[in-house]
Amino acid sequence: MVDSLIHPHEAKPEIWVYLEHEGGNLQTVSLEILGKGRQLADEMGWPLCGLLLGEHVVHLAAQVFEHGADRAWVVEHPLLGSFTIDAYAAATFQTVMKGKPSVLLFGATPDGRDLAARLAVRLRTGLNADCTDLRIKRESGVLVSEVSGFGGGVLALIEMPDHRPQMATVRPGVFPVPGSMPGSQGETISVRVDLSPQMIKTRIIERHTSSTIDLTRVPVLVAGGRGVGPDFTDLEQLAHLLGGDVGATRPPVDAGYIERERQVGQTGVGCSPELAICCGISGAFHFVVGIEKAETVIAINSDPEAPIFDYADYCVVGDIHKVLPDLVQALQAARELTHD
Ligand SMILES: Cc1cc2nc3c(=O)[nH]c(=O)nc-3n(C[C@H](O)[C@H](O)[C@H](O)COP(=O)(O)OP(=O)(O)OC[C@H]3O[C@@H](n4cnc5c(N)ncnc54)[C@H](O)[C@@H]3O)c2cc1C
Repeated sequence: MVDSLIHPHEAKPEIWVYLEHEGGNLQTVSLEILGKGRQLADEMGWPLCGLLLGEHVVHLAAQVFEHGADRAWVVEHPLLGSFTIDAYAAATFQTVMKGKPSVLLFGATPDGRDLAARLAVRLRTGLNADCTDLRIKRESGVLVSEVSGFGGGVLALIEMPDHRPQMATVRPGVFPVPGSMPGSQGETISVRVDLSPQMIKTRIIERHTSSTIDLTRVPVLVAGGRGVGPDFTDLEQLAHLLGGDVGATRPPVDAGYIERERQVGQTGVGCSPELAICCGISGAFHFVVGIEKAETVIAINSDPEAPIFDYADYCVVGDIHKVLPDLVQALQAARELTHD
């Protein structure tokens, strides 16, 4: 087995969290991992550190401390103004080699997955991808990552005792966002990195911030599957009436009927709504894993044998194109009645 560049004996007993940010705010998944990181750091008596990269980002350190970190490692450089994998991988590698943390965590987002994978190869360490839980063994400091495998049929607990840093990407929505502690202070460590334009193969022509969809925290999720067809209007109306938002299984996303950010499930987002209404969805494990934290599940499906009914608290056997318009109409009538 190849040795990691950082030997376990020289790794510092610290937990680092790579922090994604947009528009001057830390992303929700980064806050979630900071919250979990704080819990692990307290159990181990280790410091929790945030890793911030960008062009002008040092002011974000205040948010990092307010969400539980003891230190912020800040890397500022004009070539880090927009995310390019070449610049970010080089800057993160150089910073990790300076700080030598024992544990390094990322959000399982498109950028987080890309960056963590490249970094793991450069550091010659392992990467536990798409984790759903984390703990650290008190006596050895070994990170134990919970990962669902074989299509979700098994939950695997993965350890890497001989390589550092112990790296993992964490699925968005699995940990709660910690409360903020305004005014909390910490130590800011500014790092100089060596980057040049020749290192960067990506040329950014235009930047689109496509949406602010975040299904991880919606109170009501109205999810549609292949049975809905191309038109999600009824689902949007229902979600609007119930103060929620619309999600989908993979087939409607792949067909281009709805945005990819709305995909729920193993390769989409995990949601924890009070109520999930599943419309025209068969109930494949890859989808169900995304709503397993829902408090109440209602399923509407024309097939009485659909597996989704095994997961649902309330089962409606019927055609979605008849049930949904009736439901929307009834809710609208009830709303008008209460407004009269
Ligand atoms: C590695 C991997 C990762 C994946 N990740 C995800 C993921 O993150 N999320 C995800 O969703 N899938 C994921 N999938 C795909 C997943 O396995 C299923 O194929 C998918 O969830 C099925 O979607 P569906 O229920 O909409 O479609 P189907 O399985 O085709 O089910 C459609 C359902 O609609 C019902 N129906 C049809 N017409 C009507 C009607 N008029 N009224 C009421 N009901 C009707 C049918 O009875 C049926 O039960 C993944 C697959 C793989 C291999």
